[in-house]
Amino acid sequence: MSLAVSQEVLISRNPATGEEIGKAKIFSKEEVRQVINRARSVFQTWRKTSFDERKHLIMRAREVILAEMDEIAELICKESGKPIAEAISMEIAPVLDLMQYFARNTKRLLKPRKVNIGLFSLLGRSSEIIYEPVGVVVIIPAWNYPFSIPLGEATMALMAGNTVIIKPSELTPFVGLKIEEIFRKAGALEGTIQVITGDGSTGAALVEAAPDKIMFTGSVSTGKKIAQSAAKNLTPVVLELGGKDPMIVFADANLNLAAEAAVWAAFCNAGQNCASVERLYVEESIAKDFTKLLIEKTKKLKQGIGTQSDISITVLSSEKQLQIVKEHVESFKKEGAKILLGGQNKGLFFEPTIIADVNNSMKAMREETFGPTLPIATFRDEEEAIRLANDSEFGLTASVWTSDLKKARRVAEKLEAGTVCINEVLYTHAIAQTPWGGVKMSGYGRTHGLEGLMELVNPKHIHLNRLLLFPDAWWMPYSETAINTFKGFAKYFASGSLIKTLLLLPMIFKRIKELTKK
Ligand code: NDP
Repeated sequence: MSLAVSQEVLISRNPATGEEIGKAKIFSKEEVRQVINRARSVFQTWRKTSFDERKHLIMRAREVILAEMDEIAELICKESGKPIAEAISMEIAPVLDLMQYFARNTKRLLKPRKVNIGLFSLLGRSSEIIYEPVGVVVIIPAWNYPFSIPLGEATMALMAGNTVIIKPSELTPFVGLKIEEIFRKAGALEGTIQVITGDGSTGAALVEAAPDKIMFTGSVSTGKKIAQSAAKNLTPVVLELGGKDPMIVFADANLNLAAEAAVWAAFCNAGQNCASVERLYVEESIAKDFTKLLIEKTKKLKQGIGTQSDISITVLSSEKQLQIVKEHVESFKKEGAKILLGGQNKGLFFEPTIIADVNNSMKAMREETFGPTLPIATFRDEEEAIRLANDSEFGLTASVWTSDLKKARRVAEKLEAGTVCINEVLYTHAIAQTPWGGVKMSGYGRTHGLEGLMELVNPKHIHLNRLLLFPDAWWMPYSETAINTFKGFAKYFASGSLIKTLLLLPMIFKRIKELTKK
């Protein structure tokens, strides 16, 4: 929990203990502009570095992280409140993997690419795409994955030749500053990656300062504000927003594993994950047994301060989060759902809560909760499961659990989400090779994977005409012959057929003769 105590300083606190972690400055608008200017000027140097030089920097940064893993894990755990186990398994390990993957593979992924331009190549033309860095990339992450999300995106941006500015959440400024320190220790040229601390107003100032790309992770409402503000300068934005992710469990699934997965996906990071399971749909015939399994498994988990190694469930990040979770649990009760387990809080520690008899019309089944709640609804058949899962304004991830892989695939294709897992859940943000992002109100654009890398470059098309003997048939001046030739283009050339296009040759020769005569 952090609070801005003055215009200039934030106090970062451990949400589990209230202990002060430190004071971080709030960058002013003027300072934000200076940071952008420095990033812009360093970009001119960084963009010229080779992929190997960039790779060395990222691999050195990995070494720093490995050497300081315990210290970093403790900082993440203290500032965000998550269990130390998750600081390692869900932040440090995945981002180390992403770093080695993009350090080693960006050169290959961004290799200039020849494009087959079809019949245009008969005219002696060729096309190639080269990928250029966009410039200054601003990363504005949420507090829930304060290390892996900004560091992963920064790695990809740097590998593509961009300079980076990160504005961590006011709740996790010191994890953000740690990222800057890691790169400093790794020997990064000053200004290649800068971290500026502050609150929402600092983020807003960054957006207004017209960077070349904004990678935003956070709520729908802030996402909309950023998109509006960025539109003034036509700054492109990637929006990784909220979720209300469904998990569908068919009667033929491995119920034991599905229940363990549901418990993990609903309660890890105290449910504060964009891809948490927030709607569980269970086939009617097994709902009772499955619910029993969920309760048994949840009861075995210990809740407490995340720095202790046997703690699985921790604390909510802020009073604001607590109020949302409480309000959602109350609204479930009011609307007729049954709280089977949990439902209470001690300070920011909200018990893992299992809720039955819910349906999609309930308020808390429609809004993102971002807390340790697992509401269970039932369905009768495949069609109903798909309909219920898609009945949401969000579409980040979804999962399907069944032993019938044909059915799973059929359902996966019909679910409206950026990622659908079959017999798996939540974790694919950790696969650097695959794209991450949502549909509907979960945002647009992608991070990770080739698709994510493409967000960080401008594809430049280089087109070459090797046959510089004649003017192009479509150049000026126009005439009756020109119009007939163009009709021929429309009928024959545009058919994509070589044979039909050959019929056009006499017309083209006539037209070129006409052009060269003048
Ligand atoms: P917010 O939208 O409140 O904040 C996100 C970030 O934006 C923070 O760094 C915040 O700074 C900053 N910010 C706030 N106001 C502005 C502004 N006007 N202009 C620019 N930046 C601003 O989200 P939360 O931090 O509460 O995060 C929770 C949300 O994030 C959930 O909805 C969750 O689903 C989503 N999320 C999505 C993920 C995905 O991959 N799709 C992953 C993780 C989370 P400050 O904190 O200092 O106010």
